[in-house]
Amino acid sequence: MASKKDYYEVLGVDRNASDEEIKKAYRRLAKKYHPDVNPDDKDAEMKFKEVNEAYEVLSDTDKRAKYDRFGHSAFEQGGFNGGFGGFGDIGFEGFGDIFESFFESAFGGSPGFGGRTSRSRTGPQRGADLKHRLEITFEEAAFGTEKEILINRTEECSSCNGTGASKGTGFETCKHCNGTGQVQISQSTIFGHFVNIKTCDVCRGEGKVITSPCDKCGGGGRIRKSVKIKVSVPAGIDNGQTISLRREGESGLRGGPPGDLYIEIRVKPHPIFTRKGYDIYCEIPVTFVQSALGGEIEVPTLEGKIKHNIPEGTQTGTVFKLKGKGIPHLRGAGKGDLLFKVNIEVPRKLNDRQKELLREFAAISGDELYEGRRTFFNKMKDALGL
Ligand SMILES: [Zn+2]
Ligand SMILES: [Zn+2]
Repeated sequence: MASKKDYYEVLGVDRNASDEEIKKAYRRLAKKYHPDVNPDDKDAEMKFKEVNEAYEVLSDTDKRAKYDRFGHSAFEQGGFNGGFGGFGDIGFEGFGDIFESFFESAFGGSPGFGGRTSRSRTGPQRGADLKHRLEITFEEAAFGTEKEILINRTEECSSCNGTGASKGTGFETCKHCNGTGQVQISQSTIFGHFVNIKTCDVCRGEGKVITSPCDKCGGGGRIRKSVKIKVSVPAGIDNGQTISLRREGESGLRGGPPGDLYIEIRVKPHPIFTRKGYDIYCEIPVTFVQSALGGEIEVPTLEGKIKHNIPEGTQTGTVFKLKGKGIPHLRGAGKGDLLFKVNIEVPRKLNDRQKELLREFAAISGDELYEGRRTFFNKMKDALGL
């Protein structure tokens, strides 16, 4: 292993060669040293191994980065086994893999070796899912609603029942592929003769074609339609949640089931309420007289205004909770709460009479009316000696 050649040298490329350059160099050298082209040439066989080994590492972003950092030691297994393990000794199994990927990239499409093909295109196919965005109001989300939406989707053609064949006619065997759904493409290369199997373009792999296509759908078996769909929006749904309607998406192919329709809910913002989970929040301005004297204030709820008593001396920012006045739970019984915060508004633009009354009020009031203020100035005195 000590005399191992640098992989970049083996492929004859620069250390910062692109993937494309590496692939090109590999293809050129693999053809040049291939054992089929150089029968009984031990030297060519060695070179062919080297080229494959270098390509295996340099064509893999991960392995290449490791090789750039640590050199050959990145892939050696260590100990006395080093010379025989790892990449030093690629058996014929190893070649098989490289071969397959080589032919795949060299000729495009499926590998011709095993003749592996799939006929999955010909079976029933489920239709695609559809997405639709539905905007509703805050109240509609809270109480639930029925909506009608218009969507564009494909539906099975009613004239031919989705077969694509016009009435009274049927299918005939595809002449292009003789009904197999596949065509063989022969290719002669220096390695020999290869057969590539492709899906038939004429019948798209189905092996049969329509004798006379349906007038309504043109033979596709499906037609695009605008359809109205009723959506029942459950009470309690929130912004961003999705309602799924089974089998309301695009129609399937060859008897496959339709896809689903997903309706994403957008809830318009409310002018006074915000929502967190099933609770709703709002802020209510009160006058300084209301907050000082306490009493009844009007509180908005989703079901209309209600009266609520706030106590004497209510401070600004105090939060009150009205149990069960929030949003109904989406699943099961129960409701969230309504939380409202009172904000005290100081009066603006007082007239002379109002100012006079306030001054008189101040004159007959002492600091003991203002507990927070008193505590603060006591603390300030202690802390700063002021
Ligand atoms: Zn039709
Ligand atoms: Zn065909």
